[in-house]
Amino acid sequence: MTDPGTRRVLVVNAGSSSLKYQLVDPDDGTSEASGLVERIGLADGRARHTCSAGTFTTESDVPDHARAMELLTAAFAEHGPDLAAVQLVAVGHRVVHGGADFSQPTLITAEVVETVRRLIPLAPLHNPGNLEGIEVARETFPDVPQVAVFDTAFHQTMPASASTYAVPRAWREEHRVRRYGFHGTSHAYVSRRTAALLGRPLEDVAIVVLHLGNGASATAVDGGRSVATSMGLTPLEGLVMGTRPGDLDPGLAGHLADRAGLTPDDFDRALSKESGLLGLTGSADFREVMERRAQGDADASLAFDVVVHRLLHYVGGYAAVLGRLDALAFTAGIGEHSPELRAEVLTRLAGFGVELDPEANATASGEARITTASSSVAAFVVPTNEEWEIARQAAGVVAG
Ligand code: ADP
Repeated sequence: MTDPGTRRVLVVNAGSSSLKYQLVDPDDGTSEASGLVERIGLADGRARHTCSAGTFTTESDVPDHARAMELLTAAFAEHGPDLAAVQLVAVGHRVVHGGADFSQPTLITAEVVETVRRLIPLAPLHNPGNLEGIEVARETFPDVPQVAVFDTAFHQTMPASASTYAVPRAWREEHRVRRYGFHGTSHAYVSRRTAALLGRPLEDVAIVVLHLGNGASATAVDGGRSVATSMGLTPLEGLVMGTRPGDLDPGLAGHLADRAGLTPDDFDRALSKESGLLGLTGSADFREVMERRAQGDADASLAFDVVVHRLLHYVGGYAAVLGRLDALAFTAGIGEHSPELRAEVLTRLAGFGVELDPEANATASGEARITTASSSVAAFVVPTNEEWEIARQAAGVVAG
């Protein structure tokens, strides 16, 4: 039952063709309602709303984000909870790219909207949808503060040594070419939870967080601050992902332009949508890759080995950057649900003071320590909760 005295944040994650939302209590992360409007701009849109009364789906024409927002408010009005009756302290928007302009969650003003618009060249696939979501939410909830929470913000603490690419000055100055990093909301949440599970102040600990979903990134967190991260100017760099390759030789672009006549568009598409697990095995889905590997499929087996090799490369590198390592944290779809991958990575790190607890790893569900009590580096599974982190940060901005 909704307690009208409790604060709520409506968390909105608007993409180019979908709008996800969740009504979250920023203090304890509980959620009374969530939903998704998908196929925005296509002929047959669909909306799904889940609340205490059940899950409700609507098929409807959804030409634009304004219509998607109408479906959201209609779902709350019809199925609950009644948004007019809860203490809605903020709408928290996930915004992918905040460039070097935003290092904190930020109250949205016309000027902030303009700055996010200027950053579109850095995130052409994401920032336009995020902006649509912001605009329709401002119109729908004119009296509720709107807060932008940026995927890049957590990484703005990286020193220049970690964020600078060794490329010509003009690229860096005129085109803002540098490492920005992504998944910051998840890395912030998971590193905080990891310190709590270790039972030590966040300020004292050195952690490597492995966010392994369809997109994947590793972050070195020193005393609660990101000091290095594997994604770069774009979310293509770093670890092997569902359809993205991660690190590559930059010479590849010229080589394939010369040899295969690839245009920049061809190259972009291949690296965003046709590489990674998909390029190696024909499936972007890690679970399917693991099933095929178990049946002896050579491509799936190689893909697993490539994924693990790249993870070890980053964990080792980041331990060196941090100068010490207290904990490793696994999160997101693969990190939370693949004991095989975690076991392989941790076993290979045995020489560095990591002692896997096979039983704890195999049975982990929710937050769990998966190394022995005597392991000098602890490892944890920490389910990420980006919605709670966005709600917490948005409520923090509003509270001042
Ligand atoms: P996104 O980045 O889209 O949020 P998720 O965090 O949901 O992605 O992660 C999706 C990935 O997690 C997929 O590759 C999926 O196969 C993998 N995954 C989910 N459950 C399991 C499982 N039980 N075992 C192995 N992989 C899993």
